[in-house]
Formats: sequence, C-alpha cells, structure tokens
Amino acid sequence: MADPVATAPLRPCSPLVRCGQLPRSLPVFRCDLLVVGSGIAGLTAALTAAEEGLHVMVLCKGRLDETNTRYAQGGLAAAIGPGDHPKFHAGDTIQVGGGLSETDVVEAITADAPGAVEWLLGLGMRVDRDETGSVALSREGGHKIARILHCDGTATGLEIQRVLEVAARSHPRIDLFEQTTVVDLLKDAEGRVGGVAAIGNGSGSERPVLYESAAVVLASGGGGQIYRETTNPELATGDGLAMAWRAGAELQDLEFVQFHPTTLYLAGAARFLISEVVRGAGARLIDRHGRRFMPEIHPDAELAPRDVVSRSIFRRMIEIGDTHVYLDLSAVPDAPRRFPSLARIARVFGIDIGREPLPVRPAVHYFIGGVACDLRGRTSLEGLWAIGECGSNGFHGANRMGSNSLLEGLVQGRLAGRDIAGRDLSRPRRFLLPAPGRAPEDHGAALNLADMTYSLKSLMWRQAGIVRDGDGLRDAVERISAWEGYLARLGPFSRAGVEIVNMVQVARLIAWCALAREESRGAHFRADFPDSKPGLRVHSRVRQADGVAEITTRPVASPAPVPPPSASRPA
Ligand SMILES: Cc1cc2nc3c(=O)[nH]c(=O)nc-3n(C[C@H](O)[C@H](O)[C@H](O)COP(=O)(O)OP(=O)(O)OC[C@H]3O[C@@H](n4cnc5c(N)ncnc54)[C@H](O)[C@@H]3O)c2cc1C
Repeated sequence: MADPVATAPLRPCSPLVRCGQLPRSLPVFRCDLLVVGSGIAGLTAALTAAEEGLHVMVLCKGRLDETNTRYAQGGLAAAIGPGDHPKFHAGDTIQVGGGLSETDVVEAITADAPGAVEWLLGLGMRVDRDETGSVALSREGGHKIARILHCDGTATGLEIQRVLEVAARSHPRIDLFEQTTVVDLLKDAEGRVGGVAAIGNGSGSERPVLYESAAVVLASGGGGQIYRETTNPELATGDGLAMAWRAGAELQDLEFVQFHPTTLYLAGAARFLISEVVRGAGARLIDRHGRRFMPEIHPDAELAPRDVVSRSIFRRMIEIGDTHVYLDLSAVPDAPRRFPSLARIARVFGIDIGREPLPVRPAVHYFIGGVACDLRGRTSLEGLWAIGECGSNGFHGANRMGSNSLLEGLVQGRLAGRDIAGRDLSRPRRFLLPAPGRAPEDHGAALNLADMTYSLKSLMWRQAGIVRDGDGLRDAVERISAWEGYLARLGPFSRAGVEIVNMVQVARLIAWCALAREESRGAHFRADFPDSKPGLRVHSRVRQADGVAEITTRPVASPAPVPPPSASRPA
C-alpha cells in the first residue's frame, strides 16, 4: 500500500445516533446470512446460499422488485454465440476499461458467464430467440461480437427480476423483509461484521430493528440519486457504500461515475434512458439550430464511446447556452414501430418521435467504484461481502462496457453465496450494541430534507459531474463537509433521514477522490488534467486510519492492455 495521497478529518456520523431508543429494548431477528438488496446480485447470492443449506434473510428498502435491475434494458453479456469465446469477451472488457481492469477478475467473470446464464434459464427466464430457436444475441458499444441476450427487446431486467423473485419467494430457507431500510452494519468485539440495524421489519413500521447473522452481504446497488440527473430509481442513494464506510471498510475508485449520453429531458418527466440501439438505428444528435455535431468530434459519430458522447453533448450545451440537445429520429425508418416504449412515453408529452426531435441530455447511470472487494465479494472487513454495483473489484476498470453489470451481479452473487456457505458459520456472532440512541435535538429549526437533497444533487451535477476541475471539486468537498457536520445532529430517524446522510457522505468521498486523481481516465474527466498519466494507472482506495480518512493508491495487478489482434475476430 502506498503512502496516503490525501488525508482529511474523520466525520462518519451514523444515523443510528438519532434512533432515540435504547438498543437493548429492540427486537432482534437471527439467521445465517443477511443479504441487503433484492436486485440481481442480492437474490442470486440468497438463492445460492439457501440451496447450500443456509437460512437467509433478504432486506430491501421498498418492494422486492424496486431495484436498478428491473430497469436494465439492453441485456446481459455472455460469450454463448457462434464464434465467440470468453477470452474475446474478456479482451473487449479490458480494452474498454481504460487501463484499470483487473485481468484475473475479468477472465473469471467472463468464463463463468455461460454457466451463470444456464442457471438463469433453468430458473425459467425467457429470452428472445431467432427463427431457429437459438438465443438471439445483439451487439453493443465495445463488444466486437454479438453476445448480448435480451428479453422482449428492452425488458431484460424486468424478466430477470421476475424469475429471481419467484424463486426467492418460494424458497423455504429464504425470508424476505420488504420496506426495511438498513441503517448501519454492526460488528462484534473482534471487529467482525455480525448484523445490521434497520428501520422496520417488513410490516410497514418505522421502528428500529436489529438483525444478527454470521455473515452480511451488501448488494445495495449504486447511488445515481446523489446527482440531479440520473437514470437510476429513487432507491439508489449509495446506502451500502455509506454504511460500509462508517463500519471501517475500504472503498475503491469512487471517482469513476459513468454517465449515459441520452436520457429524455422534459421538465417533470423521469429521466427515461434512450438506448444506444436508437442511435445505432440512425438517430442523430443535433443542437437547437438543427446542426449535427458528433461527426466532427469522433469517427464513430453518435456511436462513439459513452463518455465521449456525454462530454460532447455537455460541451455543446455550454457552447450554445442550452439545457439540452436533441435526438432526431426522422432518418430512422418506421421509428414509432421499432421503438414502441419510447414512442409511447414521448407521446404522453406531446412528441411524435417519427417527426419531432426528442430533447436529451446525459445523466448519471452507473457507479463503477464501490466497496473494495475481490471476485467473490470479500471486503476488508471480516464477515462482510459486497457484490454487484455496490462492490468494486476491478471488473469494469475505469469505464464499464454495456451489459456487463447484470453479468457481474449474477456471477458474483453465485460466487459469494458459495463462498459464505463454505465457511464455518457455527460460532455465534454477538455484535456490540450501538451506544444508547438519542432522539433528534429540537433546535426549533427543522432540517428541510427536500432542500438539502436538491442542493446536494445540484452541487454534484455542477462540480463533480461530466467535466470536473480542481477548483470546483475543492469547493464541493468543503461545502459538503459543512453539511455533513450539521446533519449529524439534525434530521429525522426515518428512511429519508438516513438516505440524506448516506448521500452526503458518499458525495463528499466521490468529490474528494475526483480531486485527488489529477488526470483524465475512462469515465473521470478533469478539464485541468485532460490526459491520462501512465503513473496513475492505479486504483484509489479511501479508508479510515488512526482517526483520519485517507486516500491511498493500489497498483493494478495486471499489465497494461494492448490492442487485440482483431483480424482473428468475426466482424
Ligand atoms: C435505466 C437503466 C438501464 C440499465 N441497463 C442495463 C443493461 O442493459 N445491462 C446491464 O448490464 N446493466 C444495466 N444497467 C445497470 C444495472 O441495471 C445495475 O447495475 C444492476 O442491476 C445492479 O444490480 P444490483 O443487484 O447490484 O443492485 P440493484 O438492482 O440496484 O438492487 C439494489 C437493492 O438494494 C436495496 N437497498 C439499497 N439500499 C438499501 C438499504 N439501505 N436497506 C435495504 N435495502 C437497500 C434496494 O431496495 C434494492 O433491492 C441499467 C441501469 C439502469 C438504471
């Protein structure tokens, strides 16, 4: 581990201090394994561990199907087509990863992908098939071979969520606790994670409840809601990252936040993602003067890599002083029939996609960084695993390739489930109860959560967004630190109160890590350091040590990627 590149005072306040109840009076649920999250990663880990004989409890903030997973459109990548091979899939993933991919992890996940897909199909997942009955595969940016499987065109995530949910609901060794917000991890006297404190027990109550287990899996997704513009649903507030941080786990590569170039931008409308497939079908990006701007920026024009298209749109918006650009589908034959969901949503807002351009702008899409973990999800804390979008093991490097995140959640969920089931879980974990709670102080000045949330999202969008610089990031860190200070004392002990604490803590860490990385690489772009630096081909790690927070670096274990011999590949 290298010397710290930056240190800061430590202020990880826990929302638990405001619970206002003596922990000893709280109800306790016990099981072998607690899984926080009901998306592809969490339910896969739960099912795998339960199959191995463990008693599993799954906790999730809303309904079981309120996840990022259910919104996934394009599909799931696996080398199962003719002429494809996991080593080609691995090669493409590493090429896109901007030098930060861990080859061992990439090779293991891509090699496991075909078997993991078989498992999902065995659960009853429906996939689109061609006229011969074979799985229909499509291509996406970065994948040089058609290897994306999908269901009903763009309803892949919904179908995966459905089959996993059916299996989990009917499993005799899985208990599901919906409407249950996990607040913090609990540790035993030896520092091992042995449970969680949560709000609720699935009954709709807002009472604090404790859950005790031999192992905890965080599968709580990303944190797109920390930004004003995001494709992520409301649940994505970075809770897993914040609670792992407060418990003392190391976090990795937080500065790498991926933006999706084209989301529908209409006041009052959700940021509906408009997939690359639409640009692939011939849709063009134009500004309000009708000028097409991508061909002069990149040879692949609208199909350039996501980060290039996002930055180009952002720059165009600034150049012409507009809040968005437009996606023009007039050259796409029969657009409303080819893209029925997009046509339907646009029609609600009075737009006919066959004739009128759609207002679009980039939005935060995916958290590449997360809780530092290995292939199986093991973290720096004994008893704690982190998987799926909330973990960071070097699979995506500095830039995620489309359709690889569902795959990561699926493969890692299976590996983590087996890993935990293979451990000796017989020794009871007795966690240390948190210090007696304190009810929120009444200062006569209630915290306006909506205002706080909006201020944070706007600040992050402006100063830690698509194009960053040192001054903006430094200012963001200072302001967010001040907010973090008074959030410790104010605010309700409720789901919303916990979420804003988490968002603020994770936001500060993102801005701080982005400030420390003085180069541009993958999804992280610094206007004041526009090039990559070979010496910074390192992961950033943020952790607590001796009462301070510090950022250190960890070299990438694998050699730098070289362009693959593309001649041997099918087109
Ligand atoms: C619009 C959209 C389209 C996408 N398209 C694709 C695609 O085509 N292919 C692809 O590979 N990826 C895609 N992605 C990304 C992919 O969907 C996610 O990365 C992936 O689904 C994450 O899965 P997960 O299991 O890690 O977490 P999620 O599916 O996000 O699940 C998170 C779970 O954690 C729970 N949780 C969070 N905090 C708490 C808490 N405090 N207490 C209790 N529970 C909590 C939530 O309730 C939820 O159950 C897309 C994402 C979006 C938003």
